[in-house]
Amino acid sequence: MVQPKIKWKRIGYSNSVLILNGKNSVLVDTGVSGNIRQLERFIRQNRIEPADIGLLILTHTHYDHTGNLKDLKNLTDAPVLVHRQEFDNLKDGHIRIPDGQRFLTRMITRLGNIFTPEFASPEAFTADLINDDEFDLLGFGIEGRVISTPGHSPGSQSVVVGKSLICGDLFMNLVYGAVFPHFAEDPYTLLQTWQKILDLGIEEIYPGHGKKLKVEEVYPVLEKWKKKLRGGI
Ligand SMILES: [Zn+2]
Repeated sequence: MVQPKIKWKRIGYSNSVLILNGKNSVLVDTGVSGNIRQLERFIRQNRIEPADIGLLILTHTHYDHTGNLKDLKNLTDAPVLVHRQEFDNLKDGHIRIPDGQRFLTRMITRLGNIFTPEFASPEAFTADLINDDEFDLLGFGIEGRVISTPGHSPGSQSVVVGKSLICGDLFMNLVYGAVFPHFAEDPYTLLQTWQKILDLGIEEIYPGHGKKLKVEEVYPVLEKWKKKLRGGI
């Protein structure tokens, strides 16, 4: 089987990623709402039709990764895959704001919990497919799999294709060099997941925010955050 190409695009302020394999292509994350035309252009620019998308994968259910989901479902008619741990969050349109991991984002979470507790919540949607822990993509024509990568949220999941990882908010890569997510429900679990990813031999990472990341850039950050969390893993 040919190794599929991976293309990413910023939709609002979070990324959508195409795993391109002709009539068996897959889209990961659906960006910030109000951008369906941009997503449609992104699909067509890569010389496939919306109907060539055979599966929509959500790395997690925060609003900025699930915007345009209904519109994309209508456009592609593809089933939607979510992790078991967040199926109900998506169905009910509710997920809590994850804890800030830096001074400023801690403040945002604190204020958000008081004034806008539904800030991170997605629009309610019932997914078609559930990933219990690992989900093989071979049935969708892609040599790859979806694995559990908790930490940012309990039902965070990532796609492994070859030595590439499409990971949502497990990592970010912002212009000022921040790689550890601003927000995480469980930073200790997140670092354990990082270690699991490194052990898999992943080489390139497509984060939910910012540009593609090389795995070498992760090592020093992992050491720094291990110390910061006082050797909690
Ligand atoms: Zn998120």
